[in-house]
Amino acid sequence: MCLFFLFCGILLAGGDRMKLYNTLSRQVEEFKPHEEGKVKFYTCGPTVYHYAHIGNIRNYIGHDILDKTLRYLGYEVTRCMNITDVGHLTSDSDSGEDKMSLASKREHKSAMEIADFYTKAFFDDFLKVNCKKPEIVSPATSNIDMYIKMIEKLIAEEYAYISGGNVYFDISKLDDYYVLTNHQEDQMVVGAREGVEEDDNKRNQADFALWFTTSKFENHELLWDSPWGKGYPGWHIECSGISIKYLGEYLDIHGGGVDNIFPHHTNEIAQSEAYLGHPWCHYWFHNEHLLDESGKMSKSKGGILTVSVLEEKGYDPLAFRFMCLGSHYRRQLVFSYDALDQAQKTLNKLRNKVNNIVVEGEVDSAKFDLYNAKFVQELENDLNTANSLSVLYEVLKDKELNGATKLELIKSFDKVFDLNLVKEANSVDSDLESYILEKIEERKEAKANKDYALADSIRDELVAKGIKLIDTKDGTTYELI
Ligand code: AMP
Ligand code: ZN
Repeated sequence: MCLFFLFCGILLAGGDRMKLYNTLSRQVEEFKPHEEGKVKFYTCGPTVYHYAHIGNIRNYIGHDILDKTLRYLGYEVTRCMNITDVGHLTSDSDSGEDKMSLASKREHKSAMEIADFYTKAFFDDFLKVNCKKPEIVSPATSNIDMYIKMIEKLIAEEYAYISGGNVYFDISKLDDYYVLTNHQEDQMVVGAREGVEEDDNKRNQADFALWFTTSKFENHELLWDSPWGKGYPGWHIECSGISIKYLGEYLDIHGGGVDNIFPHHTNEIAQSEAYLGHPWCHYWFHNEHLLDESGKMSKSKGGILTVSVLEEKGYDPLAFRFMCLGSHYRRQLVFSYDALDQAQKTLNKLRNKVNNIVVEGEVDSAKFDLYNAKFVQELENDLNTANSLSVLYEVLKDKELNGATKLELIKSFDKVFDLNLVKEANSVDSDLESYILEKIEERKEAKANKDYALADSIRDELVAKGIKLIDTKDGTTYELI
């Protein structure tokens, strides 16, 4: 790494002006992690009973931007995500059928086969839009011991009770169970929401299951021994358990889509803080939904539109990422093919502009810092990706700025955008590079054998492919033209 970039890295490491909307306080707050310079970040992972639709992927793009922004600002980020492969019922509460069991019946496969298949499909699409895999990815079924340990303590401390064979969390034991939903208790009453059935085993209808040993659906495929009999965990305890196990007792950021606020994250706060005996997570990060023309996209609606389907239709998956970056993560976004066509065209043009930058001059560090500060300021303002993209356009348009500085700025911004702006345009993939080096060797040999016709034909063959050879006193190099 050259000294200039080492210096920029040090400059970026400040990062104490980041402001983020916190669902818990309902305002944009200055971000201060529990431990200076380090961020513990948890993302609710997918329920792997079907393909992830582009709405789910929009949510993970939002998380990816936050992750990359924090790293750009110099934080040491440890991020964890679960894979829900058991316990998520067709309602987000305790009614309906386990989504994994339903998929097993639908596809005549075991629940684990279903989970393996859709986990792989999920990561294929996740990586296609350049989302970075979190450091820790853990399936819910790999952490049963942790949930049992937590539930035992919650029962011992009378936050939880056994009824009708299941274990429930007693929400009346908390001063403010509805803290995350702005105390809107009346809107959360069970029965008021579609698809939620009353459960006679519960002391209060808002209590939620931590462990099921009996339920109306028999022959549940995934069962584990527990002090309360053979059964399986509720969905909410998974994320508390996995987060505390891998990221510790103090979490900086916990995120998901807005539909996760209630009941999922509300229940996570209840059981985690009851278990730990102290406040748990400071910042709650929620992404708004992607809608289609008929409303919210959902896996259960069928006809799932995935990133791979978009790719099959000839779109670059990064055009979808680009489309998401054009709108704020806390705004709903309506998907349409017209909007995606527009995003694809604009991205192509942008890449072309980057490709046409003539790389001349030295990087002007004062100007680099100036633009970089503008870029950072937009991201620090609750991740204003649309405005940070405008800074990139300003860089491109600036006639006073030399090519070398432009390119370094764009390379740097693309660490967060991750739109392959520079990779597509100016760098050479390893296969192409070995091909060019091989041709340079062949040409050198031809020249040594005084076969100048062959040497020239190799040079012309490369020019036809957009590769220009440059002979110097130290040997031959190349550039892409
Ligand atoms: P699921 O696989 O259903 O558990 O959902 C995975 C993540 O996607 C959750 O954090 C949801 O909040 C989020 N999500 C679900 N539907 C949408 C949507 N239409 N737009 C954006 N995010 C969504
Ligand atoms: Zn979760």
